Amino acid sequence: MTAMNERNQPAPFGGLSIDFSGDTSVAAPATPAPLGGLSIALAPDAATAPGGPATAAAPDDGRTETKLLIVGSGPAGLTAAVYAARANLEPIVLAGSAPGGQLMLTSDVENYPGFPEGIQGPDLMAAFRSQAERFGTRIVDVDVDRVDLSSRPFRLWARGVEYRAEAVIVATGASAMWLGLESETRLRGRGVSACATCDGFFFRDREIAVVGGGDTAFEEASYLTRFASKIHLLHRRDEFRASKIMVERAKANPKIQIHTNTAIDEVLGDAKVDGLALRDTVTGKATTLPIEGLFIAIGHRPNTEAFRDWLEIDAKGYLVVHDETHSKIDGVFIAGDVHDHRYRQAVTAAGDGCKAAIDAERWLEAEGITEANTLTAW
Ligand SMILES: Cc1cc2nc3c(=O)[nH]c(=O)nc-3n(C[C@H](O)[C@H](O)[C@H](O)COP(=O)(O)OP(=O)(O)OC[C@H]3O[C@@H](n4cnc5c(N)ncnc54)[C@H](O)[C@@H]3O)c2cc1C
Repeated sequence: MTAMNERNQPAPFGGLSIDFSGDTSVAAPATPAPLGGLSIALAPDAATAPGGPATAAAPDDGRTETKLLIVGSGPAGLTAAVYAARANLEPIVLAGSAPGGQLMLTSDVENYPGFPEGIQGPDLMAAFRSQAERFGTRIVDVDVDRVDLSSRPFRLWARGVEYRAEAVIVATGASAMWLGLESETRLRGRGVSACATCDGFFFRDREIAVVGGGDTAFEEASYLTRFASKIHLLHRRDEFRASKIMVERAKANPKIQIHTNTAIDEVLGDAKVDGLALRDTVTGKATTLPIEGLFIAIGHRPNTEAFRDWLEIDAKGYLVVHDETHSKIDGVFIAGDVHDHRYRQAVTAAGDGCKAAIDAERWLEAEGITEANTLTAW
């Protein structure tokens, strides 16, 4: 039954309560604090526990066969699930070991439309999941470790259980690479970020650092000059992988200071970032650099492991799409950051999930697997 509000209208998010009002933690601060000065819970809690965000889920029906199986439960996978479930495809989502995807690692999300005051990443993903489950999606928080896409039904295995599907959407995302320091993990969302487009806004007039030596690091540093007062670009070596023109442009920018042969030993700060402990990789000399934000720009690793023997992979390791969301295998579709190294945003991933679900539904109809009259008035 649909949850209703006091005016007898359907309550948003199926009754899932997200309080946008009066929450100072998500209101734009008068003086921007890094990431709104917020902490995010990286330790297991209701939102990030392996079981995934709290939802008003229907009892698990235990199905392992479906018309459409979706791999991944970030914005792409769960949006595909909402569309597919509303089209009566009764999808199964194999959500992976990171239910909710990358947004579970961040606090304020201020650029996802529909939330004028912003929303916490885990709250947003809880709402996505609840919406997908409301229409009959089965979600299982397991990683797919093996697939056989040689014939239909396609077969996928996770923790020894075999799932069968007539169509598959791969929405396994890409994982940001981190330095691997304990202090970096502790201060994620408290000044440490892996997404300049997402979090640059919080560092207006602040002195910050970007770490990396490739095009992404230089792009992020250049983008961040519109907010930060000064950007230290830190790189372990004295040569860059980035294109020459990007390096020259950065050198010419008075807001960017490049530090070569510089490694980060520690991110300093208790409640938020207030500096970096650095080491010269040639002389070994230790220094500290007072900064308020650190952007990690050392790359992303697309999560393609289970599919790499079956689907095309480009030079950067991302899946290749044809005609929007199609893969080279009929009936296998691709959505989100696992193929998109250009935009890497929640809203573009969600849009991709929508497109993949519509393409999958049309393909299932064309193959005669679903009846022609199921095509939803979306
Ligand atoms: C720190 C940070 C902050 C960000 N902030 C913002 C922001 O403010 N606004 C914004 O628009 N974007 C932001 N982004 C980017 C945004 O999170 C991504 O663009 C978006 O999450 C991509 O969605 P996706 O569904 O393609 O993949 P992901 O979110 O990466 O989800 C991938 C899913 O696939 C699953 N998976 C992986 N491998 C397997 C497998 N073998 N079997 C089953 N499941 C698997 C994972 O468990 C996960 O559920 C941020 C990213 C980071 C890292």
